[in-house]
Amino acid sequence: MKTLLTSTLALLVLASAAVASDGHDHGKVIPGPKGGRIVEVEGGHAEFLVQPDRKVSVTFYGEDMKATGPSEQVVTVVAEAPAGKAKLELEKTADGFLSRTVLPEGDGYRIVLQIRATEGAKPQNFRIDYHAETCGKCSRAEYACICAEESGGGHGGHSH
Ligand SMILES: [Zn+2]
Repeated sequence: MKTLLTSTLALLVLASAAVASDGHDHGKVIPGPKGGRIVEVEGGHAEFLVQPDRKVSVTFYGEDMKATGPSEQVVTVVAEAPAGKAKLELEKTADGFLSRTVLPEGDGYRIVLQIRATEGAKPQNFRIDYHAETCGKCSRAEYACICAEESGGGHGGHSH
């Protein structure tokens, strides 16, 4: 009887642990549906993507990662390129936001993505290290790599 009780308790503990890990986990890296980098914003997520033409696009998703389309957000990108800082204004498109101009030459520099939920709202700043090369493990661009949390601490394939 005692054994049965103990294993019942153990099962309960296991069950609640499983529920906890299936909940909203802020440590998990979400792969961007378009191949970009996902950041958490008020009410959901935003995907930062450098297009092949080097313009920056930002797409908004709800908590469930369903695209929500652009609303009243104000988005700017500051590229801290070696040649100097470049500020990119993003304008609203049918499914998100797109920069009017392209990123400065090269990569390996810091990009600051600034998102305001509405004009005049407190900005959220996201610092992204822009590396354009492809990660050998997940086949995504390094700035959007999703391996970091799964390789046990080290960022596999990185050679800095
Ligand atoms: Zn990777």
